[in-house]
Amino acid sequence: MTDVQGRCHCGAVEIIIKEYGNFVYTCHCDGCRRLNSGPVLSVDPGPKENVVFAKGKKSITIYHDDGVERGFCSICGSTLFWHAPADNHYCMNAELFDAIIADASFELELFYDMKPAYYAFAGERKKLDRNFQEI
Ligand SMILES: [Zn+2]
Ligand SMILES: [Zn+2]
Repeated sequence: MTDVQGRCHCGAVEIIIKEYGNFVYTCHCDGCRRLNSGPVLSVDPGPKENVVFAKGKKSITIYHDDGVERGFCSICGSTLFWHAPADNHYCMNAELFDAIIADASFELELFYDMKPAYYAFAGERKKLDRNFQEI
């Protein structure tokens, strides 16, 4: 898909991914779960050149988290992205992008060793621990 449109819950922030398939992954790490009330479901658009902040950039709050930036809508609180500037790499909240989640391929669970026991996603997919070793 090209020019995949995304928006936060209140609509103040609009983000476009220039080019994307349908890959979705989740992260079970402590930070993602605490920030998102559970394992965040994400897309992986990669470099900033693939991402357009189309509307509401001034409504984005950046939380600096151990070398990465976590972006939120300052108005509604929606999780927007995780950004590693040193690697020029964005991952984004999959749920912003209706066209992706309509036909998503849920392929990967990260930090699986940090997942608490009380929940699990149905189905089988690749699982990596905090050292990116396959489980
Ligand atoms: Zn918002
Ligand atoms: Zn995480």
